[in-house]
Amino acid sequence: MVLVYIAFGSNLGNRIDHVRQMTSELEYIGGATMRCSSLWLSEATEMDSDAGDFVNGVIELKTKLSALALLDRLQQIEVAMGRPADHGFHTARVIDLDIICYGNQVISTPRLTVPHPRAHERAFVLNPLFELAPELKLPGLDQSLSEMIGKAPPMKILQLPPNQAEKNGSLA
Ligand code: ADP
Ligand code: MG
Repeated sequence: MVLVYIAFGSNLGNRIDHVRQMTSELEYIGGATMRCSSLWLSEATEMDSDAGDFVNGVIELKTKLSALALLDRLQQIEVAMGRPADHGFHTARVIDLDIICYGNQVISTPRLTVPHPRAHERAFVLNPLFELAPELKLPGLDQSLSEMIGKAPPMKILQLPPNQAEKNGSLA
C-alpha cells in the first residue's frame, strides 16, 4: 500500500455536494484509511476573471493502485462527475483532482509529474495538506510544508468551520 495525497477543487455549481460525491467515489479505491482535511474557500487564481471561488481540500489515502492507475481512476471520476474531457485550462470545473504526492516517489512522465509541480506554491494545497500531515516532506524538495506556506504567493483563502462547510460559502 502506498500513502498518497490528492488535492481537490470545485468552483462550479454546488461545490460542497461535488466534494461529497467525489469523496464517496474515492472511498471505493482508498478503503477505510481515507482522511480528508477541512474545506478551504479560495479565490480563483490562474483562471478566467469571472471564475467563482473554489472549495479546496486534500485527501490522504492508502492505495494498491500504481500512480498511473490512480491518475486514470481520478480522471474517470472527473469525467463521470461532468467535467468535459476537453475542458480549457483556465475554465471553471465541477471537480479537479491532482496527485500531490505518491509515497516518496518522484515521477516525471508526459502524463504525470509527482510531486505535483505547482503544489509547493499553492496555498490552497499547502494549508489542507499541512492539516493532515504537518511533518510531510515532498520528495525532491528541501523545504518543510510550513516554510512553503510562508513563501507561497498571497491569496484570499479561508478555512471553513465544519458547520459552515454544510453551506456553500463565498469569499465576497
Ligand atoms: P490543472 O489541474 O493543472 O488545472 P488538469 O486537471 O486539466 O489541469 O490536468 C492536466 C493534465 O495534467 C492531466 O491530463 C494530467 O495528465 C496531467 N498531470 C500531470 N501531473 C499530474 C498530477 N500530479 N496530478 C494530476 N494530473 C497531472
Ligand atoms: Mg488537475
